[in-house]
Amino acid sequence: MDLRFTPEEIAFRDEVRSFIRAALPASIRHKMVEGRDLSRDDVVAWQRILNRRGWSVANWPKEWGGTGWGPIQQYIFMEEIQMAPAPRPLAYGVFMVGPVIIAFGSEAQKRRFLPRIANLDDWWCQGFSEPAAGSDLAALKTTARRDGGEYVVNGQKTWTTYAQYADWVFCLVRTDPAAKKQRGISFLLIDMKSKGVVVRPIETIDGGHEINEIFFDDVRVPADNLVGEENKGWDYAKFLLGSERTNIARVGVSKERIRRIKELAARVQVRGRPLLDDDIFRRKLASLEVELKALEITQLRVVAAERNRAGRGTPDPASSILKIKGSEIQQATAELLLQVVGPQAMPYGLGDDIGGALAFGELWEMTAAPTYYNWRKISIYGGSNEIQKNIVARSILGL
Ligand SMILES: Cc1cc2nc3c(=O)[nH]c(=O)nc-3n(C[C@H](O)[C@H](O)[C@H](O)COP(=O)(O)OP(=O)(O)OC[C@H]3O[C@@H](n4cnc5c(N)ncnc54)[C@H](O)[C@@H]3O)c2cc1C
Repeated sequence: MDLRFTPEEIAFRDEVRSFIRAALPASIRHKMVEGRDLSRDDVVAWQRILNRRGWSVANWPKEWGGTGWGPIQQYIFMEEIQMAPAPRPLAYGVFMVGPVIIAFGSEAQKRRFLPRIANLDDWWCQGFSEPAAGSDLAALKTTARRDGGEYVVNGQKTWTTYAQYADWVFCLVRTDPAAKKQRGISFLLIDMKSKGVVVRPIETIDGGHEINEIFFDDVRVPADNLVGEENKGWDYAKFLLGSERTNIARVGVSKERIRRIKELAARVQVRGRPLLDDDIFRRKLASLEVELKALEITQLRVVAAERNRAGRGTPDPASSILKIKGSEIQQATAELLLQVVGPQAMPYGLGDDIGGALAFGELWEMTAAPTYYNWRKISIYGGSNEIQKNIVARSILGL
């Protein structure tokens, strides 16, 4: 299997790289480099820049504004975004509900929602998980009872990322409580401004607010907002969870982090010399880089195989390996950055208690510890690493 890019692919990579370098607002890039939170406006502004270039929904069919790129070009595009570093197009619309509407939605839903997703006129969030339905998603209990031309929705979703920004939520709801678990589930699009929708923030361990609970209390939803057929939602959810096969390992993110760690470790002095010259530190860095290289080659093998799998619609089970290793490496980069920052990573002004020796540091120092804590999530969301190991055991090892 040839893992090298062709001359055309290299030319494509250069074109993407130059565009991002020229078009990405410096303020957004700085926030990304320093690990600061982006505002809603930042994410919208960048996606609209991409949309003007015709690249915000690169993964979609041309008919609906996509690029017609193959899996290698998609991979290169996402890696360049990650390494810039730039925000990726908002996943909930572009990689999740958009492809579901394209594949299973009505013509009216396509015309209504797809252009607005591409331009991020509508911010979508994902209402799948519930308090007792995460890994075992089919245990979900939120109900939607048909009443004339509407559904009446009652229940609770949780861990909903960016629900506080969202205009719409795509939900899995139970429409047939008598049917076997997976069979009675439907895929419903709900306007977040509907009467009876309440969003409550969940504060994360880093003090941030990106996830929420959503409560539905007799929320009336037009039946036209059902995607596909009633009680077939589980099939659409499986399609959604498998629709993004490339870049699940976020190799570009880790590459950019390691570049940054080296840059900072060259600046930080320990016992009179740069940390980057310290043997123990160098060994840790090297071992992480070796792991990342192995992951990149594995990722390229999966992407190269995609050349032959195009249109199959099922995820390569090897993407579970990419998710496991990719999340472990991202978490390891966050840990290594903590070591670079050292005591300055103490976030809450501990200096006051020990004679004021530790003042707040520079921005990149102050975000290292929150990022370390925040990135614990990477091995949980999108199907936890334990669940991915189950998939590897079943689908690859045949256990
Ligand atoms: C930051 C963050 C953002 C999220 N955003 C969203 C979102 O926008 N929308 C949404 O719908 N959901 C979202 N989620 C939810 C996410 O998908 C779930 O957290 C995840 O599926 C795990 O479910 P759970 O939290 O209920 O844990 P549980 O399923 O209760 O699992 C608890 C532990 O048991 C392990 N476990 C469970 N079952 C098995 C098994 N069969 N074999 C081995 N181990 C097992 C798990 O790996 C885990 O370690 C988000 C989660 C996080 C952390």
